[in-house]
Order: sequence, then C-alpha cells, then structure tokens
Amino acid sequence: MKLNYLFKENKPVLSFEIFPPKKQGDWLPEIYDTIDALAPLGPDFISVTYGASGSSQSNTVEIASLLQKKYSIPSLAHLTCVGDTDDMITNVLTRLKDEGIQNILALRGDLVGDNKLGDFKYASELTEFIKNYSDFCVAGACYPEVHPDAPNLEEDIKNLKIKADAGAEFFITQLFFDNATFYEWRNKVREAGITTPIVAGVMPITSAQQLKRMATLCGATIPENVKTLVEAYEHNAYALRQVGIAYATQQILDLLANGVDGIHLYTMNKPHITKQIMDNIRGPLYSLKGKN
Ligand code: FAD
Repeated sequence: MKLNYLFKENKPVLSFEIFPPKKQGDWLPEIYDTIDALAPLGPDFISVTYGASGSSQSNTVEIASLLQKKYSIPSLAHLTCVGDTDDMITNVLTRLKDEGIQNILALRGDLVGDNKLGDFKYASELTEFIKNYSDFCVAGACYPEVHPDAPNLEEDIKNLKIKADAGAEFFITQLFFDNATFYEWRNKVREAGITTPIVAGVMPITSAQQLKRMATLCGATIPENVKTLVEAYEHNAYALRQVGIAYATQQILDLLANGVDGIHLYTMNKPHITKQIMDNIRGPLYSLKGKN
C-alpha cells in the first residue's frame, strides 16, 4: 500500500520508527519482540532506519518486508545515498521492489566520519532517481530547527521545495521539543508554496543521557522547561521515564489540536514507552480520525 493515500483518507496519520537491532548474529528474535508489542498499538505504518554506510542496511529491507508479510503493517524503508553510486542504489531499489515494499524515505545521510558524497549530492537527487526507477511512494526529511548544514532557514526551506518538486509526497520532521518552533516553521513552509503533508517527529525522553546524545546528534534545542524537568528527576530512572511520557503526550495532544498532518513516534525499540503514550493519546487521535 502506498502511504500517500493515508493523507487523503486517514488523517492525522500515526507512524512509528524502529531501527534494526545492533546485535550481531541472530537478531531476528529481538525485532520480533519489538514488533509483536508495537503491532497491536495500531500504527498506520512503521518506518525502519538505514545505517548510512553501515552494516545493518540489508536488515532494513528484511525488517520492512517482515512488517508487511508477517504483520500486514505497511512499511516505510529509510534509504540513504551518501557515498553511494547509482548502481549501489539501484541494487537496493531492486531488492525493495522484489520484496513488495512500495514506500521509501529518501535521505542523504550525515556527512560524518568516512562518509563522503558519492553520485548523489542531496536527497532531492535520490528522490528523482527513485521516481525514475519505479513508481515508489517517496517521503523526505525536514527540519523545523533548520538542518545543521544549511546557511539559514530561508535556504533550507528553498531546498525543501526542491525536494517536494522532485517528488517527495510527504515529509517527516526531525525530533523537536518546542511545538511553537514547529508551528512557526510550518507557517513559513506553507508560505513558500509547499503543500506536502508534514508529519511531526516526537521522541519521548527516556533518560538524561539519551536526551543529551540525541540533542547533539540531531541539533535539537532542549527548552528550559525540559532541562528543569530532567534535572529534577535524572537520578530516578522510573520518575524520569514517566516525565518523558507525560511530556511527549502533552506535545502530541497539542500538535493534534493544531491540525498536524501526522505524528511519527521515535520508539527507540522501546514498545512499553510507546504503549503508555498511545494509551494517553488514542481517544483524541481516533476522534480526529473519525474512529470510535
Ligand atoms: P538533504 O535534503 O539533502 O539536505 C541536506 C542539506 O543540504 C540541508 O542543509 C539542505 O538545506 C541542503 N540542500 C538540500 N538540497 C540542496 C540544494 N539543491 N542545493 C543546496 N543545498 C541543498 N540518517 C541515516 O543515516 N539513516 C536514517 O535512517 C535516517 N533517518 C532519518 C529520519 C528522519 C525523519 C530524519 C529527519 C533524519 C534521518 N536521518 C537518517 C538523518 C539524515 O540522513 C541527516 O539529517 C542528513 O544530514 C540530511 O539528510 P536529508 O535527507 O535531510 O538531506
């Protein structure tokens, strides 16, 4: 099933993100446990990350295929192009097509460590390449706090328009903690003539360490109220997890009330946390979707 249809019929769309287990050897039981716990929570689709220039790339295709064949959940396979040639990307696209996967999140990947540009300079070039290869539904990433490589907000939004024009059918945002920043950015995106649906990425805080790591990695600002909450409870893992669940719940309820096209929950392969958030937001979400 192509995911672009969801935005016409089933808004606000709810999706989860998982990653291939880092474990070597027999990693399948671990991912089965994760998906067994996430599937009953009723996501519209699940996305599977892809390690830019990493070893878990073929596992992404396998998990995306498993989601559809074993669990009947539409999948969105992430695909990065940094360091890759046209032929390398064609090989992955052929595998995805053979497995019946119809949806790809086309990404550049980070220019860090040994990662150098290959045949593709930007995700928009990958988007165009995928569209020319076959009739996949292609999604793209976007950045309410501006991508770290972009000179400024205006240029970043201009580049987002290029990605939309290249064929991106919906966007998923980088995680953020301040909804006001998202609304301000979304207004500017719409003013720039980009009408593509935008799904808001929400990551629940699970520990002080995880928060610091993700903020550094993604360039997300940690607002003062979040800092205060984390400082108050960082020595009590259980309390901090509850605070993280409450904060993500509040963020999502506000996004839903403000007409967001969709919510993308970064599950971090921790389904018990996703479940508690879902218990809190199911009523309002289903009410907007017109379900009981
Ligand atoms: P692009 O859209 O190419 O943008 C990169 C930079 O180039 C931006 O600064 C942009 O403004 C600029 N730019 C774009 N087009 C042009 C142009 N035509 N001219 C000039 N400048 C331009 N990484 C992984 O390795 N694996 C994953 O699975 C993964 N999943 C992700 C999921 C989401 C939802 C998000 C938000 C990010 C994800 N990432 C992942 C991280 C992503 O790969 C990095 O953020 C990367 O640095 C940029 O990727 P992009 O696709 O947004 O790049």
